[in-house]
Amino acid sequence: MGERVLAFMAHPDDAEFLCAGTLALLHERGYEVHIATMTAGDGGSTELPPEEIARIRLGEAERSAALLNGKYYCAGLKDFLVTVNDTSIKRTVELVRQVDPIIVFAHHPGDYMLDHEMSSILVRHACFCAGAPNMKTDLFPSAKPIGRIPYLYYCMPIEGIDHFGNEAPMSIFVNITSVMELKERMLKCHESQRQWLLKHHGIDEYIERMRHWAMQVGRKVGAEFAECFIQHRGHAFPKDNILVKLLNGLAIEVQQ
Ligand SMILES: [Zn+2]
Repeated sequence: MGERVLAFMAHPDDAEFLCAGTLALLHERGYEVHIATMTAGDGGSTELPPEEIARIRLGEAERSAALLNGKYYCAGLKDFLVTVNDTSIKRTVELVRQVDPIIVFAHHPGDYMLDHEMSSILVRHACFCAGAPNMKTDLFPSAKPIGRIPYLYYCMPIEGIDHFGNEAPMSIFVNITSVMELKERMLKCHESQRQWLLKHHGIDEYIERMRHWAMQVGRKVGAEFAECFIQHRGHAFPKDNILVKLLNGLAIEVQQ
């Protein structure tokens, strides 16, 4: 089994907006890609009831992950209700144990809405305690404690800004120009979301927004398109920058 990377976000399509280019580059270098979301995106429609839109979006997320030969998982929480409690912690830990990733991508702790903020905390906590044998979970008992704390990277908050509208400091930039077309194809798998915006705004805002953000980030480092991250380097987490090492030349870390 090859080494694995896990993007664990709140909703289907968050990984595509925030880190799919970096996942594609890691996939090119032989890493298995796993994408998980806390919810199935059951709040993502103004016309369909939650169960129906959730079913559609699970299929979309699976098709997107498949473009990187990747696997998709859902922790089964509900949109707008992602909170930190025993059940959500256990589900998150079990998914991290199932994948046993070397690198994890999560939402920025100061991202724009509760589901993203709580996902960030849940994923950080799961990375920390998934290795503890006495951290008992009961949903998938087959998921065994892992033997390491993975490298943890926070993606850019949506639009790159914090709660006050100020630019959030990011330090790791990945040039995704060579895989931009693939990132776009992954995002286009989320047809239900794209069509909604297309219908209401009359332009392909879903795709345009992603391209615009990737261009904005790219401009900072002289790349056509880029994604950016900040590494979690708190107590016990690995502190060297594996992303810069693996994506030799395409990823750089800049001083704040
Ligand atoms: Zn989201």
